[in-house]
Amino acid sequence: MTDLRVGFGYDVHRLVEGRELWLGGVLIPHSTGALGHSDADVLLHAVCDALLGAAGAGDIGQHFPDTDPAWKNADSKVLLSSVMKIIGDQGWSVGNVDCTLVLERPKIMPHAPAMRKVIASILAVGEDAVGIKATTNEKMGFVGREEGVCAYAVALLRRPV
Ligand code: MG
Repeated sequence: MTDLRVGFGYDVHRLVEGRELWLGGVLIPHSTGALGHSDADVLLHAVCDALLGAAGAGDIGQHFPDTDPAWKNADSKVLLSSVMKIIGDQGWSVGNVDCTLVLERPKIMPHAPAMRKVIASILAVGEDAVGIKATTNEKMGFVGREEGVCAYAVALLRRPV
């Protein structure tokens, strides 16, 4: 018997000049980058929240507050690893995650294999258990005006009963 839990995560960051664009643990060459206290990797943050949500373990803001200097410019791969420790301590392992990025530019799919590799490695799953999808916002709203980038993620956790 296996206990299964599903979790959902959402995140958004502003896009500004003079910042690096980290998405899914990969540095993406682009004219703007995401603004945030950490490296502002919106995709990894959404995955963190999906995992924490599935485990009923709060959210990323509770565990890594943006008022804490420890997380200033933090590598979000380290945050995701810390989340894996939190849920692992409760006996959970990851079944799969599925993510959608929403941004106008640049094209994401050329970078998706690298993102899957990074995320699969941290989550201790096969790359086939990491879905990366991307869409534009059809030039509508703040994403359409390239003022920001959004990410959505779902995660399945399992634990022996
Ligand atoms: Mg964030």
